[in-house]
Amino acid sequence: MQFRDLIEILAEYDVVHSDLPRNFNCDGEVDHEYKKIYINTNQSYKDKIDTTIHELLHVFYDSRGIEVTENQIIEETKQIIEREYE
Ligand SMILES: [Zn+2]
Repeated sequence: MQFRDLIEILAEYDVVHSDLPRNFNCDGEVDHEYKKIYINTNQSYKDKIDTTIHELLHVFYDSRGIEVTENQIIEETKQIIEREYE
């Protein structure tokens, strides 16, 4: 996922910050029909970064019709955080 891919996603999708109850399975979500990326605000800043990258990767691969597993998304998110933040 390159910079221009991010721009193309953000040109189409709203990023909605929502104060959801703390729930491990609900840190973020993508609504493809309404083109919204939900980020749970009830998590640490570091986790919000993680969730944002994670959900962007889902949109990136889904929009290209590339099937990836949840574990592949988690692993790629980890690699991006290591590359960009550590
Ligand atoms: Zn996921």
